Amino acid sequence: MNSKINNFINGEFITSKSDLITVWSPQDGKKLTEVTNSSLKDLDQAIYAAKNAYKSWSEFTLKERVEFFYEFRNQLKNNIDSLSDSICQENGKTFEEAKAEVLKGIELTEFACSIPQIIHDEIQEVSRGVECRSSHVPVGIVSSITPFNFPIMVPMWTIPNALVLGNCMILKPSEQTPVGASKIAELLKISGLPNGVFNVINGDKKIVEEICDHKDISAISFVGSTKIAKTIYQKSTSNLKRCLALGGAKNHLIVLPDANSEMASNDIVASMSGCAGQRCMAASAMIGVGKIEETINKIKNKAKNVIPGKNLGSVISKEAKQRIEKYIDEAEKEGAKIILDGRDVKVSGKENGYYVGPTIIDYVTPEMKIAKEEVFGPVLAIMRTEEIDHAIKIENSSNYGNASSVYTQDGKLANYITEKVSAGMVGVNIGVPVPREPFSFGGWNESRFGVGDITGKSSINFWTRLKKRTSKWNASAKKNWMS
Ligand code: NAD
Repeated sequence: MNSKINNFINGEFITSKSDLITVWSPQDGKKLTEVTNSSLKDLDQAIYAAKNAYKSWSEFTLKERVEFFYEFRNQLKNNIDSLSDSICQENGKTFEEAKAEVLKGIELTEFACSIPQIIHDEIQEVSRGVECRSSHVPVGIVSSITPFNFPIMVPMWTIPNALVLGNCMILKPSEQTPVGASKIAELLKISGLPNGVFNVINGDKKIVEEICDHKDISAISFVGSTKIAKTIYQKSTSNLKRCLALGGAKNHLIVLPDANSEMASNDIVASMSGCAGQRCMAASAMIGVGKIEETINKIKNKAKNVIPGKNLGSVISKEAKQRIEKYIDEAEKEGAKIILDGRDVKVSGKENGYYVGPTIIDYVTPEMKIAKEEVFGPVLAIMRTEEIDHAIKIENSSNYGNASSVYTQDGKLANYITEKVSAGMVGVNIGVPVPREPFSFGGWNESRFGVGDITGKSSINFWTRLKKRTSKWNASAKKNWMS
């Protein structure tokens, strides 16, 4: 990859005097590029630009603001391959996975373009001659802090909606994958977005702390691990900002004996190994109810065809590889049975890449660490039970609550289970139950702190405040109502 990644402020890529962070290629362990580790001075510069831009941007009509995003959508469509390539390089995904991420970014932009058709001011004559009107107005200068695992898609969860709704944004992408945010900035600039409406400030936790403390930032959305999401939520709300912080996950798939084993095994393998298991919606725990030997055998055999460096990408870092392999070691020590082992894989020509092969661990019990904690790698922990209610109890005992799915042919049981599981996004015969636009994305429990979801219709309330105006024009009505 090329030269270092700079901040994007007031429509320009700006060289900063701040330190640099090295970005490593997860595919071969070599240095990919460097990125600015911003200081408060850099952040202040971005906020100054955003505040200036906000004066006119917040006064554009919704329809005027959307015009820029029609063009941005075209730009994304024209650059699908180059955007996908950059995701592969910095994140380690396969090209197909990276492309799916870009396509989802396009869908998110299309949703933002539809916002003028979804929200309208509400007006009612509440008393003769007296009118109440409620309108959505922007929050102000907002910030979006994003993780490494979707360098384009997760920033796109927030950018189009927040901007179309009249806010100006400071994006802080992951320092492990900062390239996607620069590409988004470039395309927004080409689309004619006014300077200062969108800014990128790079860096690590130091700059995130400054964002949480900054008096001029009114709202913060965060996506990342639960430990950090909690801290960000506590810090920003104690500074009287609104905050929506999405955290980690441990997603359970409940497989009943009547499941279509072919479909279930295909989906489960794709869910646990897609994006090398580094999806907050990945299946990481399966609970088999009753006789499910056939499905488990099929999962094992199909997972053998998921080959690191071919149709399985790398994990993000050396530390991530070590963490994942340690979870597998510990599960083995605790008595679980490794039926497919992805430890110590080497990819020819990419020997220094951070690869972990698909790993299936059977006879896991609910008390084991591998059953409870987020592994974030291509690892499936299989638990077994004879009772549906016990399966639900295991799912409910998780601190997380992003996703849960059930595999069965029985509609009544599917309804029963999806009603009882404690997760924000549930599926029936779906391995990755991500709601498509206009439905919203967001988990429950320790997978999300704050109110509402981050995408779709639900996000509109996060990015706007309601202004209620009451007017009396008809003096001749001679009705005295709260004059
Ligand atoms: P992370 O929490 O390490 O980092 C996320 C962001 O927080 C980054 O921008 C990073 O610079 C910043 N950060 C890191 N440590 C910090 C600290 N101590 N103080 C302040 N800021 C800090 O997450 P990650 O490793 O980049 O991403 C993986 C995690 O994100 C997983 O747990 C995954 O489940 C989660 N995730 C959740 C969702 C969701 O929708 N719930 C979506 C994608 C990823």
